[in-house]
Amino acid sequence: MSAGTSVPSGPILIVEDLVKRFPIKGGFFGRTVATVDAVSGVSFTVERGETLGLVGESGCGKSTTARAILRLHEPDSGTVIFDGIDVIAQSKAEMRALRREMQVVFQDPYASLNPRWQVNRIIGEPLVVQPGSTNDIPGRVAELLGLVGLNAEHGNRYPHEFSGGQRQRIGIARALALDPKLIVLDEPVSALDVSVQAGVINLLDDLQDRLGLSYLFVAHDLSVVRHISDRVAVMYLGKIVEIADSETLYARPTHPYTQALLSAIPEPDPVRERARRRVVLTGDVPSPVNPPSGCRFRTRCPIAQPKCAEEEPALIDRGFGHPVACHFPSVAVVVADTQS
Ligand code: ATP
Repeated sequence: MSAGTSVPSGPILIVEDLVKRFPIKGGFFGRTVATVDAVSGVSFTVERGETLGLVGESGCGKSTTARAILRLHEPDSGTVIFDGIDVIAQSKAEMRALRREMQVVFQDPYASLNPRWQVNRIIGEPLVVQPGSTNDIPGRVAELLGLVGLNAEHGNRYPHEFSGGQRQRIGIARALALDPKLIVLDEPVSALDVSVQAGVINLLDDLQDRLGLSYLFVAHDLSVVRHISDRVAVMYLGKIVEIADSETLYARPTHPYTQALLSAIPEPDPVRERARRRVVLTGDVPSPVNPPSGCRFRTRCPIAQPKCAEEEPALIDRGFGHPVACHFPSVAVVVADTQS
């Protein structure tokens, strides 16, 4: 943010008690026979210029949360406030206008880019669809290509002529076309080779600094969001179980699920790797059609007690300085500090 720019106050995104269920149809008449509790009362904020990582195993409801915020899935209940605007109260036309400012980048860049269009047209399309955004579409497209590390000549090619990492850069350039304030990044590097993931994450980091963007970064792996996230929210079976600033979450996680996820990440340093304490979870993730009573994590939790089946733990600060949804949280140092 440049000096002298007035800074609006308050979070760019406030999500409160968001709920999204999917009906499962069956039988001869296609009646609803069951309901998937995909997102069950999720609340968080994204501050201006911040990256919030939203992390959890496959099926925990991360993508549904992201899509419900953008109303790509219509939420069943809850509140979404974007830049002071009540998103859920917007009409379809108002929502189209609002999407200028809240963009999304999906996991699979190939699926989200029209294979029959040249890159110039792909990146320029939002500028055509939202008239008045610029008088010089070719100039803006060239500028966007430069912003994501591609050159103007790349604009004349088709998506299949690019590597996966380059295609994701094209997706990012398209998302930037209308100068958004928030970008929802739904597993933006999961389909990429590990060797190119860092390049795309560094690009996102750099763009955030240059353009003052805010990110909601969805990932299934805590290691992916580690360096780019200011704060991280950990999801399990449709609920957030712990949310903290990155430094705290990675060094001193207090929820047994966060501890288990972190303990599974190999350490590059051999000494620290030997000191790594694994927390191995038993059993499978229960079905969101019939989640466990009380704490949803209790069926796989190494420290579960009878209370956990009876009472759902609220996501509150339990004396560790950040919210955790566990009746018996405790600080675990996942990797011992070998320096001390
Ligand atoms: P992944 O990384 O695998 O996409 P996720 O954490 O993003 O996982 P979601 O895709 O949000 O999880 O799915 C949450 C739950 O909702 C899962 O049980 C999933 O099967 C279910 N679900 C998602 N979309 C639908 C849908 N359109 N109809 C029915 N169930 C759905």
